[in-house]
Amino acid sequence: MSALPKAAPVADLSLEEICAFLYAEARCLDDKDWEGWLAHYAPSATFHMPAWDDDDLPTENPQTEISLIYYGSKQGLEDRVFRIKTDRSSATSLPEPRTSHNISNVEIVERGAGFVKLRFNWVSDSFRYKTSDMYFGTSFYTLDTSGARPLIAAKKVILSGDYTLGSYIDDAMTQDEAKAGYVLTCQIKATSDCVISVPASSAVCKVKIAAHAGQMLETRALSPSSIGFSVKVAEPAELSYLPGQYVNVSVPDTTQARSYSFSSMPRDGVVEFLVRNIPGGLMSTYLSQLARAGDAMTLTGPVGSFYLRDVTRPTLFLAGGTGLAPFLAMLELLTKKGCAHPIHMIYGVTNDADLVEVDKLEAAAAALPGFTFATVVADPNSAHERKGYVTHHLRDSALNGGDVDIYLCGPPPMVDAVRAYLDQKGVKPASFHFEKFSPSENK
Ligand SMILES: Cc1cc2nc3c(=O)[nH]c(=O)nc-3n(C[C@H](O)[C@H](O)[C@H](O)COP(=O)(O)OP(=O)(O)OC[C@H]3O[C@@H](n4cnc5c(N)ncnc54)[C@H](O)[C@@H]3O)c2cc1C
Repeated sequence: MSALPKAAPVADLSLEEICAFLYAEARCLDDKDWEGWLAHYAPSATFHMPAWDDDDLPTENPQTEISLIYYGSKQGLEDRVFRIKTDRSSATSLPEPRTSHNISNVEIVERGAGFVKLRFNWVSDSFRYKTSDMYFGTSFYTLDTSGARPLIAAKKVILSGDYTLGSYIDDAMTQDEAKAGYVLTCQIKATSDCVISVPASSAVCKVKIAAHAGQMLETRALSPSSIGFSVKVAEPAELSYLPGQYVNVSVPDTTQARSYSFSSMPRDGVVEFLVRNIPGGLMSTYLSQLARAGDAMTLTGPVGSFYLRDVTRPTLFLAGGTGLAPFLAMLELLTKKGCAHPIHMIYGVTNDADLVEVDKLEAAAAALPGFTFATVVADPNSAHERKGYVTHHLRDSALNGGDVDIYLCGPPPMVDAVRAYLDQKGVKPASFHFEKFSPSENK
């Protein structure tokens, strides 16, 4: 436990001693001396970190207004320390950040019998997961100076302009993206005013998530590893989606659902899907062995921000395995609308058997003068003319010096590999959209 500055009569508690007290508290945080840190607080100490209100002023009343943190007594701080020490704190999960708490501009604002009020500025640097963050603000303390040692009776911390990223999985955002300042708007907690720009097509406004009743129409065994299926929805007018989006499909006779990208645009209420046949998989088993025309299925969606934006420049489609599905829907729409810009697709699979629906790509190439595609098989024993991974066949010319919109979809390792490849090449595309076909957690 850190030693606290010696007790001193109120009138004599000098600025230097106050600074020593503040530095000691800060050092406890940097040293992760949680008990020493708690020892700086009076039992009735309040701890308040206000939020910012609509007028860009910090909220004042923690009982009636939103706060970032509020504890009414030291008990709240003790609970927080308990959660940190037992790894139950979402804010401070392991590894604990390395920090440097720095204090400046210490001013005594008011002195009285048994108390002193002060304010100071602070900057805290924090390092975790190879990322450094800087937080800054102003703190207002009331020190209880009536006892043997000064103790914090009230602490208000104004965090001047920052956000917390919230909790999320690495699949959603990589550490490099977080470092580059990217955030997940579904998780981020803004703690000051911010401007949000949404580069979304207005068409997005026309789609809304709902549960759509439907019936299995047919399944198509495309290869030993891939199955196509189509569903007829009961209320076609109710279901609209953007090409590239996905939907959660109920697995008949179970309580579960699986996510699937639409592989077609709706045609008279019929929608199609392209699915990898995973031996023993719940939906895979249903589709490959149990499905009967007329089986009731519920489609909940559409979901997702992976959808085709207006094509305004050269565009690259990168598909891995059944990650082809959303591109089939995109190409169907483009074929109907026409497209003035070149679109190149690289469709990579693991084995020859995974290469399906190539006839649809050929049809799109015939209908769309700017559309070209190349198929790639990873299996070294394949007789296919192009072997390897998608990245092996990604020509610099297709990247167009970064003036390119890139759409990427497939299993998580493939998506990660392509993203790492583009990062390593230093390619900064005009826009970049990806979808990972992550396995369901609901098994
Ligand atoms: C947004 C989104 C869109 C998707 N769109 C498609 C799509 O259009 N086409 C498609 O085929 N899939 C898609 N998926 C994956 C799909 O939702 C299912 O996870 C997949 O079809 C397996 O379901 P299942 O019920 O057959 O297997 P499950 O019963 O879920 O799993 C059985 C076993 O297989 C493993 N497993 C599951 N998926 C994979 C995988 N991809 N690779 C290796 N092992 C796996 C599981 O971990 C489990 O051990 C998408 C996923 C997401 C998140």
